[in-house]
Amino acid sequence: MSITNGSDQVTYNRQKKEFNSVVDLIVTLVSITLVMRFVLVIMDPAFTDIKQVGSIELYSAFRPIINLLYGSTDVLLTPINEIINVIGNATGLFPNNVFPSMRSEGFGFWLQERLSPLPPFAKQGIAEYVLNSPPSTWMPGYFNWTALIGASFYLGIRPLVTNSYFTIRNWWENMLIEILYIKKRRDHYDEILQRKNLELQNALNQGKYLENEISQLNTSVVTDELTKAYNRRFFSEKIRELFNKHKQAEQIMTIMMVDIDHFKKVNDNYGHLIGDEVLVLVSELLRRLTPENGFCCRYGGEEFAILMPTISLEQASSDAELIRNEVLRLSFPSAPDLKSSISIGVATADFSTMDVKRELHHYEDLLKFADDALYEAKTSGRNKVIPKRVG
Ligand code: GH3
Ligand code: MG
Ligand code: MG
Repeated sequence: MSITNGSDQVTYNRQKKEFNSVVDLIVTLVSITLVMRFVLVIMDPAFTDIKQVGSIELYSAFRPIINLLYGSTDVLLTPINEIINVIGNATGLFPNNVFPSMRSEGFGFWLQERLSPLPPFAKQGIAEYVLNSPPSTWMPGYFNWTALIGASFYLGIRPLVTNSYFTIRNWWENMLIEILYIKKRRDHYDEILQRKNLELQNALNQGKYLENEISQLNTSVVTDELTKAYNRRFFSEKIRELFNKHKQAEQIMTIMMVDIDHFKKVNDNYGHLIGDEVLVLVSELLRRLTPENGFCCRYGGEEFAILMPTISLEQASSDAELIRNEVLRLSFPSAPDLKSSISIGVATADFSTMDVKRELHHYEDLLKFADDALYEAKTSGRNKVIPKRVG
């Protein structure tokens, strides 16, 4: 996964080449410097006691630079020196950190002779000195050996550095790519999740909308559009259900028939729209005053039927009186001078009585009682409540 295409490969190879060249250059420079130090120390009169004609003057002239070279290369050589000491002490090859001296040891002497031949007296002196001195007193010129070993070490380290650098770099890049890939994948999943959530939300909204629509539809199916009272169809179903239920349970069942008085005149004198307004406001009042377990229905035209399960005739009659009085007090914004009244017929069947149970077979039998009561209210002067007990 690290190298994905050809151009990446080319870039990678170029970078590797560039890096290797830089490492090569540094390592070569370091190694050359170390070798230079090696040569300089061998020739350095301050280290060797070899006083050749002119050499002291030459070295004196360049002393600061030479010292700088010694000092700086010490940094490079100290770790190698330490390694040699550890190995020397552990193996017993160079105990007490004493590495063969560059100045007095055989190879050093041999090299010294060839690099800068000494005059016979000096040679004699050094040979004597070397022969007469025990190895433990040799000077610690091993730092110079270390310079040679260091040069080889730094040259040898080059493939190690370049290879490990690129191994680490590859590993690091792979890890970065992996992290980016994981992040991208997570972002992708987040995106999918977000989209799905949105879809779900839309579906839920759609569901809510449909639920609302259905509920509205259900309401409109049983509701009279103008007066918002239950419609005739609902009334028919409800009265059948309640009549049977209460007859079975031997409970009281009351119906109230409400009819607006002289409504035709309202239409004739004020117009149909005002007539509608009267219907709406009377219906609103009727619905407000209908008992909680009751149902206020538009029976037809300007006639309403209120189903009042378990309400006694006395209670229903007093409710009816209240309603009648409230209607008298109604005022109509579009016709401030208009007053309206209603006639009410109330019929109650107490199914706990055997006679009633026997007498009333069908809800229409009860309805007829209420209708008769209403008729009576109309014929006896209107704006009245007439209660009728069945049986
Ligand atoms: P009564 O006191 O005997 O009940 O007399 P009434 O005039 O109220 O009764 P009638 O049955 O003679 O007239 C009812 C009128 O109600 C006739 C009809 O035009 C009117 N009507 C029925 N439905 C509506 C409606 O939805 N809107 C309006 N404005 N008038 C309606
Ligand atoms: Mg009427
Ligand atoms: Mg009528």
